[in-house]
Amino acid sequence: MGDRVPLSVPSLGAQEAAYLTACIDEGWVARGGRFVREFETLFAKIAGVDHAVSTVSGSAALHLALVDLHVSSGDEVIVPALTFIATAAPVAYVGATPVFVDVDPATYCIDPAAIEAAITPRTRAIIPVHLYGHPADLDPIRALADPREIPIVEDATEALGSYCRGRACGTLGTIGAFSFNGNKVITSGGGGMLLADTGARVDHLRHLTLQARVGGTVEYLHDEVGFNYAMSNLNAAVGLAQLKRLEEFVEARRALARRYAEGLAPVDDLTFCKEAPWARCNFWLMSVLVDERVRGRNRTDLMRTLDESGVDSRPFFHPLNRLKPFRALEGAPTPVADRLHSQGLSIPSSANLGRDDQERIITLLGG
Ligand SMILES: *Cc1c(COP(=O)(O)O)cnc(C)c1O
Repeated sequence: MGDRVPLSVPSLGAQEAAYLTACIDEGWVARGGRFVREFETLFAKIAGVDHAVSTVSGSAALHLALVDLHVSSGDEVIVPALTFIATAAPVAYVGATPVFVDVDPATYCIDPAAIEAAITPRTRAIIPVHLYGHPADLDPIRALADPREIPIVEDATEALGSYCRGRACGTLGTIGAFSFNGNKVITSGGGGMLLADTGARVDHLRHLTLQARVGGTVEYLHDEVGFNYAMSNLNAAVGLAQLKRLEEFVEARRALARRYAEGLAPVDDLTFCKEAPWARCNFWLMSVLVDERVRGRNRTDLMRTLDESGVDSRPFFHPLNRLKPFRALEGAPTPVADRLHSQGLSIPSSANLGRDDQERIITLLGG
């Protein structure tokens, strides 16, 4: 058997290696090195904001967002049902309750009408997720949240390089969180980033990543309980090299999306993911929905067909309100999330997926 076609893998090169070597040569591998500063500076510039705070992971970034917003026990946080568990886990870390709501059938992202129905006096934050890289439309969400002074934490972990109505995902809410784990659009070998709406919030988030240690003295003085969540120089070195190639990666994914859309258009039981007219999608993970009523095949059949030819694919995320840690929570039904989960299949989406593999996958899917 030859090499399998993976779902989403990074392309790493000479620049990553050179920066890593520089860390060793300069004797600085831990947090607080020059690559950390350079990575944050370039990241903020690309997002069009003044400052960014790097973290050890996207999960840590989301956790810190909720700590900064003082979300705690007795509070509710509105989360889409269809997302990776790391969106909701930080809500549990701070002792609050996730309230799962349904998603929009066109964008697969959180449905504003479902948010409105779920808001209570205990709602302390809303976490829209830009799912699979497609922006959630923040305009209607802000129209609900802003008058009620409910902060929005954007889970932009999958959406680096995506734009909602011309503005970078992750800059549209109170706090935005990104991830650079191994299968995201860029990787730092593990890591995350935070953006925030005010300089004071940025400073506080940074303070929290550094054990909340008070500067300017050799004494170990801490003014609150913080975390060991700051990114290392080694991770930032890889992240910086990757970030410099962000546009190249996003353009490659967008070209792949165009080819899939064209190649799969004639396949009557498949719906390839679409970009909304107001959005620019990074196409982190591309997908098809399989309508079993048309040809009798379902997404599990399709997954097997691909697997037997050495092609990786993944079912959509399991609706979180159906999973063991959250099953007991009460909540409104989520029929769209349930349907998308049963029909949705993510297909190989790497920026470096070769032409031959692209055509082979389209053929295997029936195009
Ligand atoms: C990847 C991801 C995270 C977490 O990021 P890590 O860096 O892996 O901790 C959170 N939410 C979503 C939706 C993700 O896809």
